[in-house]
Amino acid sequence: DAIEIEAASSHGKMNLDEYEGVWVLAEQRENKLLDVSAELVSEARKLADKLDEDVSAVLVGEDVKDEAEELIAYGADHVYVIEDEELKDYRTESYAHVISELIEHYKPEIVLLGATHNGRDLGPRLSTRLQTGLTADCTQLDIDDEEGILLQTRPAFGGNLMATIICSNHRPQMSTVRPGVMEKAEPDYDRVGDVTEVQADLGEETESEVKRKIVEISSHLHDADIFTKIKDIVKEASASVNLEDADIIVSGGRGVGSPEGFAVIEELAEVLGGEVGASRAVVDEGWIDQEHQVGQTGKNVQPRLYIACGISGAIQHRAGMETSDYIIAINTDEEADIFNICDYGIVGDLHEIVPLLTEGFSQE
Ligand code: FAD
Repeated sequence: DAIEIEAASSHGKMNLDEYEGVWVLAEQRENKLLDVSAELVSEARKLADKLDEDVSAVLVGEDVKDEAEELIAYGADHVYVIEDEELKDYRTESYAHVISELIEHYKPEIVLLGATHNGRDLGPRLSTRLQTGLTADCTQLDIDDEEGILLQTRPAFGGNLMATIICSNHRPQMSTVRPGVMEKAEPDYDRVGDVTEVQADLGEETESEVKRKIVEISSHLHDADIFTKIKDIVKEASASVNLEDADIIVSGGRGVGSPEGFAVIEELAEVLGGEVGASRAVVDEGWIDQEHQVGQTGKNVQPRLYIACGISGAIQHRAGMETSDYIIAINTDEEADIFNICDYGIVGDLHEIVPLLTEGFSQE
């Protein structure tokens, strides 16, 4: 049975019939659309088709409107673009201000966000401002055939059960979804959609390349209470991880023991010219960044060689790596499930075995 969540609302009763359409709050970094936004638009398309409604995406930033075409290709019918130099980089107050104004104006029925660092920050702010509920970290979304309500499924109680959550008396119904969970549709660059440039700062008019339609919203960005100033954006020193295209992946699980324990995994990956993967357990522990996670809620990989070190082989991990050409597993527990799917298994302590492999391969 679905669990109901309700926001503590001072609005009184909402008129739910006023709300229509499925929205995606798209994210970009340095004017490049994040994959999760394409995934969410693809998912929104499926939900909207069930409701016989439209999909809209929202793009916020500076010089971001070129990404609108991409969003339309993945299934958006409308794209709202809010551009302003004040919005160049994500800031909680300014983004929450302009997006909540936009939502209050257009009244979408469903709003989806990526469970990225920014989405996790923005989602709760928006739901508080809009006096509605938010279901975080959904892994599955669907529409209830009878009620037309959004069924938001996510792991609960430490992943021991899947809870389906509904938001019955408030709108919009809001969910965050982890990157890599929803399937990305094939983009169709012949799809037609319209782009609406929303003025965050009223007064000036701008031309949209696709279709011109200026909507005035009683919002004034520069009037918003913005307490944060960005002084500098510091990029992570490491090159970004490209697990999906890697030929060789050396992955570490809880058996690695600590964040420092990953050094042996990194050394072997380097000698083999591969990438470092990880199980969700170590990502949740904060030992390694989420972009390394392989599995159902991480990345799907298919390298020529996958070396699983200290990984038990839970079904959710296997879902992301089982189709690798060759799997080598290193585990102290000879009963570990990973040994059921590997080509070669080594029973032993990874801290002894992995350095031996590194030494061996570096002499090749
Ligand atoms: P554990 O299960 O704790 O296993 C650690 C292993 O290390 C054990 O087998 C142990 O014998 C071995 N070991 C210990 N010490 C050593 C040593 N010194 N040398 C060698 N071996 C050693 N998991 C994912 O990985 N990816 C996902 O995308 C994912 N998505 C999920 C989605 C949902 C909805 C849910 C509910 C769960 C998901 N999980 C995912 C979690 C998954 O169920 C497991 O909890 C997780 O994969 C376990 O990680 P692990 O194998 O590193 O840890």
